[in-house]
Amino acid sequence: MSGREVGGEFAFEFAERVDRVEPSATLAISNAANELEAAGHDVVDLSVGAPDFPTPENVVEAGTDALEAGHTGYTSSNGVPELKEAIAEKLRDDGIDADADEVIVTPGAKQALYETVQTLVDDGDEVVLLDPAWVSYEAMVRLAGGELSRVDLAPYEFELEGGLDDLAATVSDDTELLVVNSPTNPTGAVYSDAALEGVRDLAVEHDIAVIADEIYDEIVYGVEQTSLASLDGMADRTVTINGFSKAYSMTGWRLGYLHATGDLVSQAGKLHSHSVSCATNFVQRAGVEALHNTDNAVEEMRAAFESRRDMLVDLFDDHGVDVAVPDGAFYMMLPVADDDSAWAEEAIQEAHVATVPGSAFGAPGHVRISYAAAEERLREGMQRLFDADLLG
Ligand code: PMP
Ligand code: GLU
Repeated sequence: MSGREVGGEFAFEFAERVDRVEPSATLAISNAANELEAAGHDVVDLSVGAPDFPTPENVVEAGTDALEAGHTGYTSSNGVPELKEAIAEKLRDDGIDADADEVIVTPGAKQALYETVQTLVDDGDEVVLLDPAWVSYEAMVRLAGGELSRVDLAPYEFELEGGLDDLAATVSDDTELLVVNSPTNPTGAVYSDAALEGVRDLAVEHDIAVIADEIYDEIVYGVEQTSLASLDGMADRTVTINGFSKAYSMTGWRLGYLHATGDLVSQAGKLHSHSVSCATNFVQRAGVEALHNTDNAVEEMRAAFESRRDMLVDLFDDHGVDVAVPDGAFYMMLPVADDDSAWAEEAIQEAHVATVPGSAFGAPGHVRISYAAAEERLREGMQRLFDADLLG
């Protein structure tokens, strides 16, 4: 039954699965910041992870040209051939033996992850996350009915290499799926080759499928990012996820993809065709331009994030705040009070600085800041936290 009478009025009865999850914490805080701003407050919003740069001009042009040229209908469900080929080329550059037929183009990487989890996880299946982990993995697994096991990397400064023994003690032949996200949201950690090889050995030993979410792969600082699917033994057990939101500052365009070998694409493609039909036609055309002609713009944004990271690391050093220095993405975890949710509430209400509580990522005692914000806003935000005695 999907409804019942309450005092003569109809009320929906909700499916049990929606009770298993909360709204996205990152988006909830960003909404709270928007409300404060609408009420006339100057909020330094370091909550949501969205680059503060415009989408590169040539990509916008490719999108508007495509719109004007009439690319406004449905496309093949898995994506237009030019984009799937450009994605396969990019993956081959990353050392993955990819073919265009092994790609599904999705409205955002989030949808690619959602489809993958729905395709692989049955009721009661064990899925292993490395904490701190991005908020939506847990929700997606719960919606699919999976059971979560979590490995806490906080004791190892968020580095996976130090936590490999803990991972080995957690996974077993019963583990269905492991989610690896490097560069990592929310810590900015970039896993070393030794760490990724450790994951590979465990995945092979216990026959585990792996999601490699590499959406921050273009945003690294002086280190190399290795694609998990490029390692020996991983090609057939890895679903590689990526998207255009971060590297090309295209969050609102909603464009992402998954790549996997074997039958995964035909199985996930069923969900794809019954849920979204296809990603937006003219957006896919802009995606081809993004993959082919944005090297300079991507490098400019990467360099700006790096200099902001350096500025923050120096600032925290001066104030005696002990942070793990991120090698990638545009996030940093700050050690705060045990009750990080209360701390974040005080920071937004009193200092008008929006951060995301670490507990949402499985890292209590911390908050995440996004430094995809202008340098003067970052300085202003941190100064407010120091002045309010919330930091340092
Ligand atoms: N993976 C990670 C780790 C993320 O931080 C995000 C947030 N944007 C996504 C996937 C989804 O990105 P999008 O749907 O915008 O492509
Ligand atoms: N992934 C970004 C973040 O973590 C955007 C918001 C979201 O999708 O969660 O802030």
